[in-house]
Amino acid sequence: MTPTRLILFDIDGTLISPGRMPRVWLSEAINELSGEEEQHLTLDDVAGKTDTLIIETALLKLGVSRWNIRKMIYPIINRYLEKLSANYASDSTPKFVFPGVKEILERLNWREDILLGLVTGNTPDSARIKLSHFGLWEYFKLGAYATDSKHRNDLPKIALRLANQMNHTKFEAEHAVMIGDTLNDLEAARVNKMRSLIVGHHPYWRKDLRAGKPDLYVDDFSAPEHVLKWLIES
Ligand SMILES: [Mg+2]
Repeated sequence: MTPTRLILFDIDGTLISPGRMPRVWLSEAINELSGEEEQHLTLDDVAGKTDTLIIETALLKLGVSRWNIRKMIYPIINRYLEKLSANYASDSTPKFVFPGVKEILERLNWREDILLGLVTGNTPDSARIKLSHFGLWEYFKLGAYATDSKHRNDLPKIALRLANQMNHTKFEAEHAVMIGDTLNDLEAARVNKMRSLIVGHHPYWRKDLRAGKPDLYVDDFSAPEHVLKWLIES
């Protein structure tokens, strides 16, 4: 059976709380490669953004020229990945899978009519390192990443194209759902004419997320049946 629905997940804040250390290691990588010491990325600097855009924005703030930024982005990503792969599993600061996520993925994974993918601001390697740590990497058959485009709005159509190449079929955008935790995810779904499921794991953002009127809004995935029913039947 060829899948007829594509479900695309964001990672950080949606599937997992990755802990604060990836953000610290990315800050360190930017500081080491730029020679600056004052750069500390906040949650607002990173949430809903791609790693490539986060690095570019941080370097622009430090006064680095666009020409040099282009040369620095991949060395910084590589330094960050060294830190992440060396330390993520052993680091003891809190990180976890959000309640209900495993059940949702497991149930969707059994369905032949559904294809699971990622649309994330991570690079392929940082996505793999984070999700493998929690045993979630194997669920996803394709992904669109920060290395495909620094603009999140470009990523859903890349994922859709990959899905069509894999299945020699033609998913339309309306057969895809984007699941994320920020207004950027919602916008990326909208501009690509995909449906949106937004989860307000971060209580501080809930009011704005609800006001954005995604197709489905939930505070969390603690009622997986409700989410599954919507994903499968709507
Ligand atoms: Mg997110």
